[in-house]
Amino acid sequence: MKFAIGIDLGGTHTAAAAVSHDGTILARAERELSDLEPDVVVDEIDRAFNEVLGALDSADCVGVGIGAPGNIDEKTGSVRFSPNFHWHDVPLRALLEKRIKHPLHILNDARCATLGEYLYGSGKGVSEFALLTLGTGIGGGFIAGGKLVIGAAMGAGEVGHHVIRPDTGFVCGCGKIGCFEAQASGMGLLRHALALAPSFPRSSLLTRKPPERWGTKMIRKAVMKGDEHASAAWQRFLADLALGVSNIIAFMNPAVIALGGGVGQTDKSVLAQPLTKLVDALTTMVPKGMTRIVSATLGNDAGMIGAAALAQAGGVSAIAHSLDGVPRQSSASATLAIAKSPR
Ligand SMILES: [Zn+2]
Repeated sequence: MKFAIGIDLGGTHTAAAAVSHDGTILARAERELSDLEPDVVVDEIDRAFNEVLGALDSADCVGVGIGAPGNIDEKTGSVRFSPNFHWHDVPLRALLEKRIKHPLHILNDARCATLGEYLYGSGKGVSEFALLTLGTGIGGGFIAGGKLVIGAAMGAGEVGHHVIRPDTGFVCGCGKIGCFEAQASGMGLLRHALALAPSFPRSSLLTRKPPERWGTKMIRKAVMKGDEHASAAWQRFLADLALGVSNIIAFMNPAVIALGGGVGQTDKSVLAQPLTKLVDALTTMVPKGMTRIVSATLGNDAGMIGAAALAQAGGVSAIAHSLDGVPRQSSASATLAIAKSPR
């Protein structure tokens, strides 16, 4: 069976999977990243790749897709800038081509996850779709007209850095104040809880762990149990998430917005349902209730599966949405459209 290998490059580990054309994972491997120096990262990608390839017939491998952090130069496959990795102009594809002899394609990791969720997860059955991964930051991606929107410089989907609270917000890692990701990521939830702590001296969060050891899972559990401090933090988080989501609806009018990352898996009675009400109240020109807000379904596999789909399709130009009035057509993109399963 033919397959592509999808590789997801995270801040603490890199994961690789061989994926068939219908999105099934045939083999997988994971390597820890002790260091984010490009040479070390390339070594570990190569090891994960070879472990997966060694489990299957390498002649069946049609290509390799890599979901990498930051902004990617489409022509050279270099990572122009990744604040999380502290990378500037790292020639990732050139470094990997010395090791990996299959066709290599590189795309931002959140866009890969968007592609994975769209083809095989929460975006199945629609052609207008957005993914927001709520983790340390907010990664995102858009599908419009059944194609991935990449933008003029591969920067479309960087929704984490649109400002929603310029006056009262938290300072973002990018240097601006009140970015969507500073307010409504998993880290944003923690910051809301910390900011509110002085008002809740009897908070169950404070009695359980010192604030520097709080995590979003613990806060979400406390919300489910009705803890007042956690619930107040959650309301602020939801209000900020709703602002960003309603902006995205105004920009893109997606049929489905999927929430990924750990926070995105929160029970819908606490997340999707109240969020939908808040978003409806903020939605003016687009008819209310037209966007379904759901949890992403592929978890951490979305990035690898999407990266493999990128390789199956034959690269970024085959999956990209062109806004210049000349839709890019290729047999690869046609295959991708047909391969998408109905809901
Ligand atoms: Zn920012």
